[in-house]
Amino acid sequence: MLERRVEDFINMEKVIEEFEAVTKDAGRVQIETLRKILEDNSEAEYLQNLGLNGRTDPQSFKNCVPLVTHQDLEPYINRMIDGDLSSILTSNPITTMSLSSGTTQGKPKFVPWNDELFETTVQIYKTSFAFRNKEFPITSGKALSFIYSSKQFKTKGGLAAGTATTNLFRNSRYIQQMQALKSQCCSPEEVIFGPDFHQSLYCHLLCGLIFCDEVQLVSSTFAHSIVHAFRTFEQLWEDLVADIRDGVLTDSVTVPSLRNAMSKILKPDPDLANIIKTKIMGLSNWYGLIPELFPNAKYVYGIMTGSMEPYLKKLRHYAGELPLLTSDYGSSEGWIATNVNPTLPPESALYTVLPQIGYFEFIPQNNGDSSFIGVDPEPVGLTQVKIGEEYEIVITTPAGLYRYRLGDVVKVMGFYNSTPQLKFIRRSNLLLTINIDKNTEKDLQLAVEEASKLLAEEKLEVVDYTSYVDVSKDPGHYVIIWEISGEASEEVLGECCNCLDKSFVDAGYTSSRKVNGIGALELRVVRRGTFQKILEHYIGLGSAVSQFKTPRCVGSNNTKVLQILNENVVNKCISSAFNN
Ligand code: AMP
Repeated sequence: MLERRVEDFINMEKVIEEFEAVTKDAGRVQIETLRKILEDNSEAEYLQNLGLNGRTDPQSFKNCVPLVTHQDLEPYINRMIDGDLSSILTSNPITTMSLSSGTTQGKPKFVPWNDELFETTVQIYKTSFAFRNKEFPITSGKALSFIYSSKQFKTKGGLAAGTATTNLFRNSRYIQQMQALKSQCCSPEEVIFGPDFHQSLYCHLLCGLIFCDEVQLVSSTFAHSIVHAFRTFEQLWEDLVADIRDGVLTDSVTVPSLRNAMSKILKPDPDLANIIKTKIMGLSNWYGLIPELFPNAKYVYGIMTGSMEPYLKKLRHYAGELPLLTSDYGSSEGWIATNVNPTLPPESALYTVLPQIGYFEFIPQNNGDSSFIGVDPEPVGLTQVKIGEEYEIVITTPAGLYRYRLGDVVKVMGFYNSTPQLKFIRRSNLLLTINIDKNTEKDLQLAVEEASKLLAEEKLEVVDYTSYVDVSKDPGHYVIIWEISGEASEEVLGECCNCLDKSFVDAGYTSSRKVNGIGALELRVVRRGTFQKILEHYIGLGSAVSQFKTPRCVGSNNTKVLQILNENVVNKCISSAFNN
């Protein structure tokens, strides 16, 4: 009965037909979308002050409305946070705020959330599901989803606040939608909303094991949480198996709501406990853990591009032969694009812009053209972007952000009908730079991958990494920080350090290194668990594990993260790669 209702809920052919229609007419759909956003919000003080006088066409919009960053909007957002319920950015006052993860900037930012954003989320989820399910059909079953709510609180002025994913999970229609997408979480709500993520993670794993034959997919918002979960599984599996055998939840889960919810599903099951134990004993170095535990899982799902790429190797190890499918592309501020090519591996994933969920502009990147320094080129519209070019995305959303610079750089790889397909390139402000050098988080990732091959020979791996530039002494130099799975010898670390230094192939870097305009690269190794402390620091600021992204280049203003890193250094070495 429930299954029939679920089937009726989403008509996949219709979703694909609608997608085809809007993408064939992306230019017109964009004009319509802008018109609707501006008409719906014509009462907003922000728009009224800009003299649009009822005009809703793209040219008037461009002429009257400035490009803004979050900082420019802070005075408006702060008034809302303080309880001003007038029409500030939107006609209908904003009553909920999302807290963006802020892992790249160092501190979380408040951005408006409303029902229209929920609707765009539903559209994006339905679209990618319709395409995904054509290639990798899932039947009725459950999802082992490592999702966590953040702390929920009221702002000074009484607005509800939490991360965007928390606002999503809290929407009464969320569970219904997830059922329709056959992605209902196997853990009870109390686990998602639990106040302690270690305990929630334990219960997610336990629920996964209890429902192991029903699990059809393993997912999280960002891939980091999946890797983190199975690393934790490696540590705690014996406790989990004991709980299943005895039907008694470990004492280390202390939150009453979690204990209560788990008591309803945990029953003594020695047979299952034995099966799980036997499966684990049969694994070699945890390879293929996910399909072994969840034999009916069809794929592993979550955002796997951008700052998540460094986790792919480990994720593939756990996933064995199961396909890894990257999900959609969006932010707390609004959604952008969906994955309608699920068979592509995450490294070559394409995100197709949905032209009806927001109004999009693209600022061409100067990519080394010095005549552009200090001047930003004019943004172009969605259908005017060029294949092969990189752009910074500017979004206009139904939640009160107009011509908002998101800070992401993407590359146009092609078009689906008339809407662009994007590759995520980087956060625009994440750069290692001292003078004429410019290394992005991708350059850093490639250098780390290269150097970690030397560790692999010692059966060691880089668990996580970050970097910063140290300009406290002249010349400044790059500091790369690694957490390693075991202890590496001084000799191997020295080789890794040299390899890192040599692997930054940017001409500005190598030429500066040769003349000592940039000092020798330093590799620091931090204690096991240091990156966990960074994650906990962000959670303390109101972020959620679900949205956590390790900051790959730490800015000098991010003092707390720098402090955590510096306090935990156990070894360091200096490159001699450019010594004559
Ligand atoms: P948040 O601050 O938690 O709202 O995270 C939003 C940011 O996460 C985006 O601006 C991107 O930088 C990054 N992001 C989101 N989706 C993807 C994706 N599919 N691939 C790469 N990066 C992503």
